[in-house]
Amino acid sequence: MATSCNIRVIARFRPLNAREKSGDQDQVVVQFPGEGTQLIMNQGGNQVPFTFDRVFPPDTHQEEIFEIVKSTVDDVLNGYNGTIFAYGQTGSGKTFTMFGSEDKDPELAGIIPRTNVHIFNKIAEDTSGSEFTIKCSFVEIYMEIIKDLLNPKNTNLKIRESKANGIWIEGLTEEFVADEHEIMDLIALGEQSRSVSKTNMNQRSSRSHSLLILTIEQKSKDGSIKRGKLNLVDLAGSEKVAKTGAEGQTLEEAKKINQSLSLLGNCIHALTESKREHIPFRDSKLTRILQESLGGNTKTTLMITASPHVSNVEETISTLKFGSRAK
Ligand code: ADP
Ligand code: MG
Repeated sequence: MATSCNIRVIARFRPLNAREKSGDQDQVVVQFPGEGTQLIMNQGGNQVPFTFDRVFPPDTHQEEIFEIVKSTVDDVLNGYNGTIFAYGQTGSGKTFTMFGSEDKDPELAGIIPRTNVHIFNKIAEDTSGSEFTIKCSFVEIYMEIIKDLLNPKNTNLKIRESKANGIWIEGLTEEFVADEHEIMDLIALGEQSRSVSKTNMNQRSSRSHSLLILTIEQKSKDGSIKRGKLNLVDLAGSEKVAKTGAEGQTLEEAKKINQSLSLLGNCIHALTESKREHIPFRDSKLTRILQESLGGNTKTTLMITASPHVSNVEETISTLKFGSRAK
């Protein structure tokens, strides 16, 4: 099957944090010339330009970010599949972008809570008499092991495939949800399952991918059915092993993460090459699960997040290169 698709790449820089602000002046190494598609990195005196579909400077409001991905949510309501990834080093703003601020300030709500509200608003506005069914799953992939965050006893889930049903995660909990609050409650429940692990939650969450899957089914009056799936992915931190000085288990973890992220990059890159016949979806759990949502008639947005500070310049350049390769 020859598949090609357009992948939108959006770069978002977070504001300087307190630690970064307390240092010397001239510590910001990124500039934003022009009309929101370009940025220039200052790497040791060299000016390195990058161009993306959109570029968002540090003062960008969460609402503006959601406006960019809203059309993908609408497509899912119309029966298409869509995937939104957040990619970047730990501390660059992936979770802030996808979920929002830790203190749950509604002004600072991220893509996921805004998506939930948008879905149920759209359904409320529908006048066609269609019946909508929304299901929610929440999954963690850690060291290539799939865990059901809505039923933590469900560990090491297997991926299955059949002609009739496509690809699915066997035994994965799918909860029916009737409003946006029910989704947020399930996310809160799932986050608890993540934190009961022996490692501290921040560490673990930076070393695993989290995947929220919303399936929207619309049965119209004439009985026809449209089914769309939206995958919202908060990826593991993309930082390189050397920087963390890891050894033993931590090193194994880091290798697995780097491998999994580079396999994702390979798939996305292959998808953007129109003549490419083989897409290496099978090489990792993440790409395998997302196979049907990445190829074909789907919309994919890669949100890359980065720090504007000089201390992170190497990681930022590496993140921007990952984004460039996906275009
Ligand atoms: P990651 O998930 O990539 O490790 P986080 O999303 O946890 O990073 O962000 C690290 C810290 O920076 C958090 O305290 C978060 O609230 C803050 N932060 C990230 N992005 C922004 C932003 N755009 N505006 C304000 N604060 C942000
Ligand atoms: Mg995070």
